[in-house]
Amino acid sequence: PHVPTSLVTAWSDRVAASPESPCLIYFDSTLTVRRVDDDSDALAAHLQDRGVGRGDVVGVQLQNIPQFAIAMLALWKVGATVLILNPMYRGGELRRLIDDSRAIGFIGLDREGEEAASTLAGSTVAWRMTTSDLDLQSEDDPRLFEDAARVVVDGADDLLTAVQENAGRTPSAAEVRAEDAALLTYTSGTTGPPKGALNTHRNVLSTAVSFNAWQGIGAGDVVLAVAPLFHITGAVATAAATLISDAPLVFINRLHPEVMLESFNRHRVSVTVGAITVYNALLALDRGDAADLGSVRWLYSGGAPIPPSTVERFQERFGHYIHNIYGMTETASAVIGVPPGARAPVDGGSGTLSIGVPLPGLDARAVDTDGREVAAGQEGELQMRGPQVMPEYLRKPEETAHVLSADGWLSSGDVAIIDEDGWIYLVDRLKDQINASGFKVWPREVEDALYEHPDVYEAAVVGAPDEYRGETVTAYVSLRPGSSTTAAALQEFTKERLAAYKYPRHVHIIDELPKTQTGKIKRRDLRDAV
Ligand code: ATP
Repeated sequence: PHVPTSLVTAWSDRVAASPESPCLIYFDSTLTVRRVDDDSDALAAHLQDRGVGRGDVVGVQLQNIPQFAIAMLALWKVGATVLILNPMYRGGELRRLIDDSRAIGFIGLDREGEEAASTLAGSTVAWRMTTSDLDLQSEDDPRLFEDAARVVVDGADDLLTAVQENAGRTPSAAEVRAEDAALLTYTSGTTGPPKGALNTHRNVLSTAVSFNAWQGIGAGDVVLAVAPLFHITGAVATAAATLISDAPLVFINRLHPEVMLESFNRHRVSVTVGAITVYNALLALDRGDAADLGSVRWLYSGGAPIPPSTVERFQERFGHYIHNIYGMTETASAVIGVPPGARAPVDGGSGTLSIGVPLPGLDARAVDTDGREVAAGQEGELQMRGPQVMPEYLRKPEETAHVLSADGWLSSGDVAIIDEDGWIYLVDRLKDQINASGFKVWPREVEDALYEHPDVYEAAVVGAPDEYRGETVTAYVSLRPGSSTTAAALQEFTKERLAAYKYPRHVHIIDELPKTQTGKIKRRDLRDAV
């Protein structure tokens, strides 16, 4: 069979096969495959006019809107690399990443456009977004593009004008090779300051193809974009994967649980990947029942640990099982997961839910501190090898060598157990281990115990500096609305479930835990605050 070598050829295959099928859906607007191809062609031609070509880096700083996907395709068509930028970034943060990546262009909203444009002075393109972009306005849906501002190209045109003025044009063919960089994503990873993880077309395509094939995504499916596209999971497992599948991708303007439920119904959504916080938010809704998720085949949760109790509660309430999926920026997202329809086993000792088994093409192993593979059932650092694994951190050979061995094994910084049947359990992050008087405690295990309590909404456990013990196990908990549990009661609850050195010596009840925009609880912030 014909195997595409890049995301561009994979996309062309879809255009050739089903040009009139729905591709991107935003409320009442549906763009066909052909329309998305035409618009991205026009944009690509425009980019070429402005000197963007093979190997150039262009920043994209957008929320989940259809233009994100169109901008990605346009940039890939001209052989450029998409630098994914979190819409929360401002000023210095934005400038540092644009500088470090040597981006020559920027596509984003007005506010950030100002910041980026100042950094990009002397370079080729700076765009900003407009509410009327690409003519996706819907009269009867005022929410459409409510958050978006203007897209301006070099302070003159907006994206809509750029597409309209170039309508009908096709970019001159750029050679795009499998080893060319498709995405550049900054990650703090396991060491030090942000580094740009470079994902090639082969990397992204490998994850996209294996995730699609594994789930059997076809024309009958509808994918909901829940994970943010400015994060690796959204960019690859949602955007790139769905763009090269036969299924349409539905966007929602806000990750509000009510809006999510409504779009599940309205668009008959069949599959999605989100962070566990999203499912928690759905659980916290007053309304909503099994019928609201009637069209769903399966749900995935990735990027952060899932407490087994959340999966149980969700199953009870909505009749759907949440499948665990694991990935890193460095592996172009999802590479280990619970096969669709299977149930993840729970580790007898720690009570941890398995993250699944390797997706096709990936090798995984657990190694000791000398790099030797440990026996089944033993803890070791998780290493992965396969076509999904990045070749390097951009222009950072030392950091690259730190995580990538000469024979292609990527060190994850995560501690895992692989059982006799190949199921993988993520114990915790190596660097988050708490050392209390020499006793090693994994925060995850303590958090899972806390989550068993019906009043606990979210929990994070960190090591607080302690004169005598070195560190003490300290828990931060937010409660479900209306619950009245006390910190002392929660401490007692964990004491009954955990060894004496593990239960939290301090429990703090707070309104809300700090989170990243991708929904991960920021243990590091809590630890720093302590
Ligand atoms: P940053 O967002 O600052 O770059 P990060 O290290 O979280 O930080 P990612 O590459 O997004 O960057 O996340 C990868 C990490 O997320 C993994 O190494 C692992 O610790 C965690 N992770 C991903 N999926 C799961 C999962 N299903 N269960 C538990 N942890 C997970």
